[in-house]
This record gives sequence, C-alpha cells and structure tokens, in this order.
Amino acid sequence: MEEKVISIDKATLELLEKAKNDGVETAWDRKAALKVPCGFGAAGVCCRNCAMGPCRVSPVPGKGVSRGICGATADVIVSRNFARMVAAGTAAHSDHGRSIALSLYHTREDGDIKVKDEEKLKRVAERFNVETEGRDKYDIAHDVAKEGLNDYGRQLDEVNLPPSVPEKRKELWKKLGIFPRAVDREIAAVMHSTHMGCNADAESMIKMSMRCSLTDGWLGSYMGTEFSDIMYGTPHSADTEANLGVLEKNSVNVVLHGHEPILSEMIVQAASDPELIELAKSVGADGINLCGMCCTGNEVSMRHGIKLAGNFMQQELAVVTGAVDALIVDVQCIMPALAKLSESYHTKFITTSPKAHIKGSTYIELDEENLLNSAKSILKEAILNFKNRDQSKVMIPELKSKAIVGYSVEEILNKLDKVVNSEIGPMQTVKPLADVIVSGVLRGAAAVVGCNNPKTTQDYSHVETIKGLIANDVIVVVTGCAAQAAAKHGLLQKEAVKYAGPGLATVCKLVDIPPVLHMGSCVDISRILDLVGRVANHLGVDMSDLPVAGIAPEWMSEKAVAIGTYVVTSGIDVWLGIVPPVTGGPEVVDILTNKMDDWVGAKFFIETDPKKAVEQIVNRMNEKRKKIGI
Ligand code: SF4
Ligand code: SF4
Repeated sequence: MEEKVISIDKATLELLEKAKNDGVETAWDRKAALKVPCGFGAAGVCCRNCAMGPCRVSPVPGKGVSRGICGATADVIVSRNFARMVAAGTAAHSDHGRSIALSLYHTREDGDIKVKDEEKLKRVAERFNVETEGRDKYDIAHDVAKEGLNDYGRQLDEVNLPPSVPEKRKELWKKLGIFPRAVDREIAAVMHSTHMGCNADAESMIKMSMRCSLTDGWLGSYMGTEFSDIMYGTPHSADTEANLGVLEKNSVNVVLHGHEPILSEMIVQAASDPELIELAKSVGADGINLCGMCCTGNEVSMRHGIKLAGNFMQQELAVVTGAVDALIVDVQCIMPALAKLSESYHTKFITTSPKAHIKGSTYIELDEENLLNSAKSILKEAILNFKNRDQSKVMIPELKSKAIVGYSVEEILNKLDKVVNSEIGPMQTVKPLADVIVSGVLRGAAAVVGCNNPKTTQDYSHVETIKGLIANDVIVVVTGCAAQAAAKHGLLQKEAVKYAGPGLATVCKLVDIPPVLHMGSCVDISRILDLVGRVANHLGVDMSDLPVAGIAPEWMSEKAVAIGTYVVTSGIDVWLGIVPPVTGGPEVVDILTNKMDDWVGAKFFIETDPKKAVEQIVNRMNEKRKKIGI
C-alpha cells in the first residue's frame, strides 16, 4: 500500500488494519499493485475502437507519434473517449430510470408497488399532458409511465422536458444544435459517431456528448427520481445515523448496496414482516438491522431514515467487519472484488439483477412478478446466515454520526414556507431562497456530489470543500457518496452551523435546517437541476446567470462524467477534483475549460486541491453576482 494518508475516516482506517491482519486485499491494495497508471490512458490518447489498433498517440503536441493508423489525432481520440464515457454514464442512469418507469406502469391497487404520492403523480401528469380530472390514480400512473417511456425511444416530435428548464436555456440548446432528443437515441448517436471513420472533430464530438448528457439529467435521471417519489414517497426530513458503526453486534446485519430503489424498497417492506422478525430471533439475533451503502443507501435513507453504512470505498470494509450477514446488491458501483472477499468471511454476497451478474456471488433474481415474496426469500437467506457468524472475528468500529436526510425539493419548499408570512405569501415557492441569494445573505449555492476515488485521501476533498464553502456563506446540497462523506463527518446536523459563515448561519437558524442538505442519490441530482431551474425562472434569468456551482471532488465513475457534462450544459460551472483522461488533447481541454463558457455560460474547472477549488468557486460566484448586479 502507498505511504500516503488513505482516509480521514477513522472507521475506514481501523478496518483497513483488520483487513491486513485478516490477510485480505482491498481496492487500495489493488491500486498499489497496479503501480503507476498508464500515461496514455490517463491522458486519454489510446484508442481501440477498431482492429487496426490499438493505437496510442503522443500526449505532447509536436513530439512522437501524432496520429492513429486511421489518421485520428490526439484531440479526436480524446474527444471520442470522453464522449463514450458520457454515453455510458447516461446509459446507466437512464436504464435505471427506465426500470422505474416500467414499475410505475405496473403499479396496481393490490400490487406490491402502489402509488404512494398521489399529489406528485398529478403534478407530474400535468407536465406530461396526461388528463387527471375524475380519473383513477392507477390509470393516470400508467399513462404517465407510457409518456415517460416514449421519451426513451421517441423518433419524432420533441421530448417532454420539465417546466423548470428556463425557456432561455432551451433556446440556447436549439441554437447550439444540442437540444436533446430521445434518451436511447442520443446514446446510440454517440456510439455511432465514435466508431472508426465517423466523427473526427473534437468540437462537434463534445457537443454530441453535451446533447447526450442532457437526456440523463433532464430525462432519464429526472424520471427516475420523479417516478420513484410517486411510488415510494417523496422524501421529507428524517433523522438517521452514518458510518460502519451502524452495524449491530447482536442483530442480523443486512447491507443494501447498489442503486435502484425497487429492490431496496421491497427489502425494507420485507424487514417488517413479523414472521421474518421471529425467524431472526429464533436464530439468536435481536432483530434485523438494515443499513444502506452508496446510492441505494441514499434512496432508503431519504425515504425511511435507514442508516447509512458508508460510501463507495467502504463497501469492502463492511464485509471486513465480519458482522454483515448479507450484502444484497443490484446494479452499478458494486466492486466485483466482493465475491472473492466474501469467501474469507461468512457474508453472503447476493446479486439480484440480470443486468449485473457477478461470478462467485449467490444469484437470487428479484422476481418482478412477485416482488415482495421474492424480497422476503432473499432476506430469509440473510437471516439464516446469522448462524454462521463467528462473533470472535467481528469488529464493528464504534464510530457513527447523527445526520438529517430527506431534503427533496418539496421538503425544501416546505421549510422555506416557515419564513413566509402566510397572509402575504406566496407559499410553496423558491422566493425566500432567491431573496437571500439576491440580497447577498447567501453568496450562492453549491452541490457537492460524486464518488470516492483511491487516487485521493478518502472523504478529505469532500469534507474540505463543503466546510470551505459553508464558511463562505455558500449553502451546500449533497448527493451520492459525497452526501455520505458529509453525514459521516457530522456535516448533516444542525450543529454543523458552527462551520458556517454568518449569513448562512442566520438562514439555517430561521429555516431550521443544517447548512448542508442531503438531496439524495446520484439520479437525484435532477432534484438539484429542478431547484436551480426554479430559482432562475423565479428571477427571470437563465441558470448560467446564478451564483451556483457543482463540485465532484472525488469522482470516479462514467456516470459522474455524464453528470458533470449535463450540469455544465445546463449552465452551472463544475469543479472536478480528479483529473479526467483528457489532458492529451489540448483542443479538448480548451473546449471543456474555456470554450464551453462561450457556448453555455459555464465550464469545467479541474482542481485537485479542495482549498484552491473553494477559492475559485467563491471568486466565480462573485463574478456572476456582479454580472447580474446582485
Ligand atoms: S479507430 Fe483509428 S485510432 Fe482508433 S484503433 Fe482504429 S485506427 Fe487506431
Ligand atoms: S457517487 Fe459515485 S460511487 Fe457513489 S454511488 Fe454514485 S456513482 Fe457510485
């Protein structure tokens, strides 16, 4: 293992020590074993898009080989590789959204999945032009699902963009030729144009990536979030706890990991089944302790206050505690290493999705026709496995933090209503938030999102960025593994106001919120787009005019690349704390960090030092404020 600080999270460090003693490897060991990463891959200048290659060209202009066999330059190769990352990320989120839309289509009064938030269903129906007057809620739900699903494969007519996209933004996208068409179409279009002998112009390739990414943020992810709220409930603020200390020595510990809420919601329901609770007691446990990890963790925490076991780099360490009886997963961000690791412990590693088979796992497919019963049988496996636990090998770190979660846009509006005089109104709008931004009580708003990455000290950049921003009176919203980092380090508590500047502290006190708001999973970044769009519409400006920023301090996945791209394309500057594989293409770097600003009024900033990033964000916010005279 490298001699550098691995993590600022004590639970992580304690368990890494145990992993060493137990003789098992983790992602950090594998990172060290790989030694120095390939410079060509890191710069994005290797291509294997056809069998004449693989080709690798020089990342330094004017030196060495400048073209692949087909003649593709470094910029062409880099832009195509970047575009494919965006397409993969968009595909992951959008396929997630598609499953959710299909579930909505199959909701029934007597089914396992019902319509829980009828009010939200009606609001969403309105934007899809689905008639609601005097109709059964399930008929409405099915029509909404059909309309949503059409936007995945629509060949003609415009897609249904949410009303929070400002008109100015739509016009801009049209002018630039990046107005999004159907989700699957944009993914296919990128894959087509990145084929050998197709697109060989970095500018147009990046524009195609931008158009593709918009189908993620404003369509695939957006629908995933909206429809999940309709079926599983719109989140409201709730107390929870975070970090591996949430595992319990005398309970059946079940860790839910992955992304789609279909599986986790069913397991949550199954866990309250009296027969299964009885079964847990009969095997000698106190009860069933459900905990979440990564985005599935965020989904169930936002809606049910389920405890957060940890973020991306802690998935292996959960098993290393020796206290996890089952790790139940579906899709995305699940390290295949878990299969081998689980062999060294009693943990049952259960995969459930045909989209993500993992060799060496126990595969129990979640039966979509019979969801609840299927979830119960999966949970039963976990309970029965408690008997195989060797308590002498268990080490649960005594570390956990209190956190408040559940800040959907609806919940934020409810909180903002607290400072509105009901005689004067208006209620249920973003006006109070817009007012404090315009007056300067808040300098701006920032979203800190994304993963963990062993290239950097785990959680350090998340925590430094968040603390730096709130100290500068920037309100912070968080999602994904960044949210869990914030939760573990006590930033999702009202007491965290001690780190906030005076303006933000006053707002937090009046509205009764922490300075850092957990807005959900990675697809829930669509909630952030919605919020920013509403503020822009309220003020009659475009999203690029607002003092807002997005930061992915420790990103690692292709989904994060898609997210960063749709956030910039929506007019919000994005800071990346990990250098993306583009440095070998000077034109691509110029487009991402410069030209994009001319196109969409926002750009990427690449800054690995979180303290410097905070400085840049504050300066950029000040510039934006000056520009619109606030
Ligand atoms: S597409 Fe061009 S650069 Fe890529 S592998 Fe084929 S010949 Fe090489
Ligand atoms: S934040 Fe990144 S690592 Fe975490 S669940 Fe989302 S994509 Fe995966």
